[in-house]
Amino acid sequence: MNILQEKIKKLAKEKNAIILAHYYTNKEIQEIADFVGDSLGLSKIACKTNADIILFCGVDFMGETAKILSPNKKVLMANNIASCFMAKYISERDLINYKKLNPDTIIISYVNTYASVKALSDVCVTSTNALKIIKHYADLNKKILYIPDKNLGNYANKTYGYNMELWNGFCPIHNYVSLNQVAKAKKEHPNAKFIVHPECPYEIIKEADFVGSTKQMLDYTIQDNASEFIVGTESGVIYAMEKASPNKKFYPLVSNFRCINMKSITLEDAYDSLKNEKNEVILSEDIIKKAKTSLDRMLELS
Ligand code: SF4
Repeated sequence: MNILQEKIKKLAKEKNAIILAHYYTNKEIQEIADFVGDSLGLSKIACKTNADIILFCGVDFMGETAKILSPNKKVLMANNIASCFMAKYISERDLINYKKLNPDTIIISYVNTYASVKALSDVCVTSTNALKIIKHYADLNKKILYIPDKNLGNYANKTYGYNMELWNGFCPIHNYVSLNQVAKAKKEHPNAKFIVHPECPYEIIKEADFVGSTKQMLDYTIQDNASEFIVGTESGVIYAMEKASPNKKFYPLVSNFRCINMKSITLEDAYDSLKNEKNEVILSEDIIKKAKTSLDRMLELS
């Protein structure tokens, strides 16, 4: 650890703070984290921590999720500019308008949404538990709207023959990979297995040996016998993969598979936020209560 990393760890101990970081953050951020995980894993930690402060190194909706699940804790974002492009595809107003026209439709919202949108949803899902929870509602034979990720929703529809209505949102980092890039990576690494995140388009998913959430991809690389993998998601997770399987090789599907928002978080940000208790996540009690219902339902069903 460098001097700044040690200062952050010391400060966190003094303030009884826990540091949570998403897999897509920079390596030096993951190194200072008490827990590194994907949305579901970090949500579960946020639920049960005894810390007074949660320093969240991730994008805005993740900090909101931590606040909803731990409303009595002080949740600080490492910086206040790391946002999620996908979450911006649907606003509270959009969903209010939709619900007026479709009052009987079940709203399943991906965790990559803002708290005000979660508050209007029936249930929330992450990429780890989406298929299981969607199945639960599809079996009820009700009309479903899946928001905001059209790619993950389309993957569920195609795989299981569902007919969910899909919002036209997506993650630009995962959406704009092409079949040519997949073919190129496979040609360069003929012995590697191709693993992919369901936020990618279905035509890309079809080319994969394995599809799953970031954590499921990590687990797959640990358990599978292959020694090389082409990684079809944000390249930050490769640090965790290399740490878990030092004898295996990992290649990003494309060299710039990077979420600029996640990568905007620096050690300086984390130190400044924790020291000065800046960038606190503030949500109204009403939003917390309503959004928590959809998250609690997710945790029950996952
Ligand atoms: S990778 Fe995409 S979905 Fe994930 S945080 Fe970044 S913009 Fe959002």
